[in-house]
Amino acid sequence: SHAREQLDRLLVSVPDFPEPGILFRDLAPVFADGDAFHAIVDDLASRFAGQFDAVAGVEARGFVLAAAVAYAASAGVLVVRKAGKLPGEVLRETYDLEYGSASLELEPDRLPVGSRVLVLDDVLATGGTLAASSRLIQRAGYSVVGFGVVLELGELDGRARLGDVPTYSIASL
Ligand code: 5GP
Repeated sequence: SHAREQLDRLLVSVPDFPEPGILFRDLAPVFADGDAFHAIVDDLASRFAGQFDAVAGVEARGFVLAAAVAYAASAGVLVVRKAGKLPGEVLRETYDLEYGSASLELEPDRLPVGSRVLVLDDVLATGGTLAASSRLIQRAGYSVVGFGVVLELGELDGRARLGDVPTYSIASL
């Protein structure tokens, strides 16, 4: 696909970031290129066209994708945030990292119960982030109709943690 070609052209891999032994996939050059960004947003939006009422983005690069896909579909946006950023009563899900844990939060009561939500992030690695996001959205009373990412790190098999929900990646490495 055109989106895949743009990724192959622009994706940068950074050894030993953020820790020794990790090969970090940097999507910033893809987001920064107008033609490439348009292609990846169109690809994600068309894969799930007609299937969602709102798009949830995971902080922070998921926000960028969610905003663009939601705008293209005249859908709303939900933000799944790192802990401590949202006011009032929030839903929280904690998940394990290689060392320690992390938490994500969502404001409840922003959409009608039963709303169909597409969840977007830049990279699917172990799947812990998207799985926790999915739990938040379900606890809020919505249904997760799909997961979309630009890049999937296939050898980590993150999609196995996401159950039967359709999971689309533009490219798998
Ligand atoms: P997971 O929870 O699936 O293990 O990790 C996914 C989260 O970590 C995503 O929010 C993603 O932004 C970030 N992440 C993990 N590995 C990479 C990577 O190689 N490149 C980028 N850009 N993000 C990554």
